[in-house]
Amino acid sequence: MCHLSARNPNFYHLLLHIDQDFAEQTRAQRCRCGGVLHSARYPRKPRGLPGEARSCCDFRYSFCCADCRCRTTPFSVRFLGRRVYTAAIMVVVSATRASAGTAAAMRQLDALGVPPSTIARWRQWWATDFVNSPFWALGQAMFVPPVETGRAPASLLERFAATLPPEPLLCLLRWLSPLTSGSAVSSLREGR
Ligand SMILES: [Zn+2]
Repeated sequence: MCHLSARNPNFYHLLLHIDQDFAEQTRAQRCRCGGVLHSARYPRKPRGLPGEARSCCDFRYSFCCADCRCRTTPFSVRFLGRRVYTAAIMVVVSATRASAGTAAAMRQLDALGVPPSTIARWRQWWATDFVNSPFWALGQAMFVPPVETGRAPASLLERFAATLPPEPLLCLLRWLSPLTSGSAVSSLREGR
């Protein structure tokens, strides 16, 4: 299921709408200095997507303050950091590897064409950067019983599948979205 979502143009249309909402909220809140935010998008060329989905992911929303020139980049469900793959592909591929999925799942994973060295790097990120992040230190409290961190993000997807069906991937991307912005921890503390 999740593998199909990660390449489905309709899924990316949905993600784009969510990112649009994040961007509108960010713009409405203005810069920390109180200045007006102007659009200053980052062009992106994510790999592993069919053409129609690519057009939903060819930029990242970002803003520049008219007064202090500071950048403000909103949360995103499409991009997790500066990776050349979308957040959906990064999560799905990492989860399949972490869960030692079925042969069919592995074949679908191969179809995404992510090099083994990249997959290894992502798994390392989940095992170290993610679990040691302030985001996880605060965010893990919402999972009762605790999530098995050694199997993240498969264990996270499973938890969202159990509590928020039918689209656990979407729920997980939304939950991770503060990680994609510089203000991740403060927003978690504020309960945003
Ligand atoms: Zn400013």
